[in-house]
Amino acid sequence: MTEKVKKTEAEWRAELSPAQYHVMREKGTEPAFTGQYWDEHAPGTYVCAGCGQPLFDAATKFDSGTGWPSFFKPIDDKSVETKSDRSHFMVRTEALCGKCEAHLGHVFEDGPEPTGLRFCMNSASLKLMPKK
Ligand code: FE
Repeated sequence: MTEKVKKTEAEWRAELSPAQYHVMREKGTEPAFTGQYWDEHAPGTYVCAGCGQPLFDAATKFDSGTGWPSFFKPIDDKSVETKSDRSHFMVRTEALCGKCEAHLGHVFEDGPEPTGLRFCMNSASLKLMPKK
């Protein structure tokens, strides 16, 4: 099992940028087409901006047209956790970092094959480690 990273909200606030803190610890959403990675196509590994855990391989990223970086599957079955999110009068599936429980975005069932899933992420929660 992945060992969890636990920090106080004050510690997170000190480590993260205000935009990162808003998304990752307050479950905010960055405006579409504004983040660093929605139109990124470089190979590499997307890791959690909070704790560095690998989350997505760039090879699973696809152009969703939404303005948010979108992936059809996580890098392994423990890297990303999901839970039901009933906020804003909608029932959605929230995606969180499996290690530090940062909010990453939401999962929808209108993605491409082979999974049919769309992990709709916020750039603010991610950091691309380019392939060497
Ligand atoms: Fe994390």
